[in-house]
Amino acid sequence: MSADPVHTLDDLARWSHAGTSLAVLGHPIAHSLSPPMHNAALAGLAQRDARFRDWRYFRFDVPPADLPRALALLHEKKFYGLNLTVPHKVMAFDLVAEIDPAARLIGAVNTLVWTERGWRGHNTDGYGLATAVHETLRRKLTGANIVLLGAGGAARAAAVECLQQGCASLWIGNRTRENLDALFGLLKPIAGKIPLHDFLVTPPLPAFPANPIYINATSLGLKASDAPPIDLGVLPSTAGSSSYDMIYTTTTTETPFVAHTKSLNIPSANGLSMLVHQGAKSLEIWTGAPAVETAPVMRSAAEAALRDV
Ligand code: NAP
Repeated sequence: MSADPVHTLDDLARWSHAGTSLAVLGHPIAHSLSPPMHNAALAGLAQRDARFRDWRYFRFDVPPADLPRALALLHEKKFYGLNLTVPHKVMAFDLVAEIDPAARLIGAVNTLVWTERGWRGHNTDGYGLATAVHETLRRKLTGANIVLLGAGGAARAAAVECLQQGCASLWIGNRTRENLDALFGLLKPIAGKIPLHDFLVTPPLPAFPANPIYINATSLGLKASDAPPIDLGVLPSTAGSSSYDMIYTTTTTETPFVAHTKSLNIPSANGLSMLVHQGAKSLEIWTGAPAVETAPVMRSAAEAALRDV
């Protein structure tokens, strides 16, 4: 996919990049699109502003047990910014010195910034989702009825963003009742007057309100052979609805949820746009460069890297 090597913590003992280092930590990490996306955007910024000429973005394979040591070492080596991906977003929340208020509500961080006191944690997934839904489906979360599928970390970031943006109602469906109840318990105190509903994704499905945006935040769809996370074909009508799948796999094949919703004539989009916008927001936090300006070059780089898969 990309020529960027996969680093491990052992490489830090002899870290030689003289300029500003950024990195993504995950496990596995080999197929992350973040290094090509960010390095393409940094190359663009460097053409306009010499400050960014020596900025580079690296990837580190960090197993969960090594995350505390990784964060301490990368801080010591003065890496300026980090992205965290599966499975680190929740664990890192308890390892940072400061938390942005929005990330505090989500209970997970995907972007860290170096400070003297330690790492400061942010979460750009909600911004990425809201921007992607507007860009690809021309829908706003504000005022929309949202049917969110999943109760894991991505669903939690999505639910908080929907509530903060003032959605009309939020329906959350999941396979496992226990995880659904846990998410519901977290959201109730921040929902205010916005109606919250929960349901299991197996039929019979509840009567959803008019014109919803269906959002897949489950991991169903990572494999091409996966079933869609819900069968919307059993509903009496899907007119006026839209669907967003956080999963992206290739540029050529539709995800199972996108294929399912398209077969029902529901306008739909996959998660590549969310990946791009959450990344552009991280870069804005580190560099000050507006996310809307770096997103197009990040998208081109992500698409090129996906074509090489
Ligand atoms: P997670 O915390 O592990 O949660 C996984 C969710 O998927 C849970 O709700 C789980 O339901 C459900 N699930 C898993 N396997 C299932 C199955 N066989 N049938 C039905 N439901 C199943 O993962 P996450 O961090 O929330 O991430 C979820 C997905 O979002 C991942 O695929 C990730 O790649 C994607 N994502 C994309 C972006 C982007 O930028 N596009 C950003 C963040 C995440 P149970 O509770 O029943 O186990």
